[in-house]
Amino acid sequence: MAECIRFVCSGCGHSIEAWSDGNPFYIDEAGKKKYAYHPHHDELEKCVANDEPHLCLKCGRESKIDSRLDSKVCPKCGSENVVDTFHLEGAKCPKCKAGHFASDKEFFCVS
Ligand SMILES: [Zn+2]
Ligand SMILES: [Zn+2]
Repeated sequence: MAECIRFVCSGCGHSIEAWSDGNPFYIDEAGKKKYAYHPHHDELEKCVANDEPHLCLKCGRESKIDSRLDSKVCPKCGSENVVDTFHLEGAKCPKCKAGHFASDKEFFCVS
């Protein structure tokens, strides 16, 4: 089961939604990445890694970063200051550069 949570910036109200399980994928016969989505549990078993959603705290770009990579960098600006979007609690907002993210207690969903 996947959980979704939302983080909201205390300064500008910018919000980011995050799923607990990211984007698991496997490699098909042709060597291409294939994402496995619910409810394809047979596909989930084949998964080798996860394209984890990250937020760049420098430029604010949301991007997926392959979990097999050792160094996680923002594909847009090259900064290493990226955070898994599911762990944004307390992170500084890249939009207003003043507020910090806090989880929205009113918001919760599962799939
Ligand atoms: Zn903000
Ligand atoms: Zn960036």
